[in-house]
Amino acid sequence: MTTPATPRITVATAWLDGCSGCHMSFLDMDERLVDLAQKIDVVYSPLVDAKELPEQVDVGILEGSISSESDLHHAQEFRKHCKLLISLGDCAVNGNVPAMRNPFKLADVIDRAYRENVDVQPQMPTVGVPVLFQQVRPIHGCVNVDVFVPGCPPRADAIFYVLNELIEGRTPDPSQVTRFGA
Ligand code: SF4
Repeated sequence: MTTPATPRITVATAWLDGCSGCHMSFLDMDERLVDLAQKIDVVYSPLVDAKELPEQVDVGILEGSISSESDLHHAQEFRKHCKLLISLGDCAVNGNVPAMRNPFKLADVIDRAYRENVDVQPQMPTVGVPVLFQQVRPIHGCVNVDVFVPGCPPRADAIFYVLNELIEGRTPDPSQVTRFGA
């Protein structure tokens, strides 16, 4: 008699206002990805072709902070459809680099980026750009987060630890394997 296969955990990932470095760290799990591929299904992510968030996902992983209407929409959709939500990386956990603009007026920041520091044809982009919020917020500033994984980016070992604990049915304690900024 054959043993029934253990159901795979479904995983969705997205990057909001981040540099993609946290996703690169995910890929840095290297050969462990082969092992993980037997245990998880990545059902939505910039790393795979699937671009529609399924109705029910076991684990959602968000990189980056919430800086725009588009980021907020993504975070709310992940919260709605994912049983467990992970905030991955310092930008997601505390705002980090994107939040450095918070002490300044948004209009001044935009002006500096698109006019002051531009030599050729300074102009405001108006098409295909999301509406920015006055203040950048971490993920848990807008939706409930279940697991926080700090680091800029978090080490691949830390990401593997968290996923492996979830696969094994345990609650991960990322404070054992992470620290802010490293
Ligand atoms: S935490 Fe660091 S690596 Fe991750 S998105 Fe932010 S700046 Fe990039």
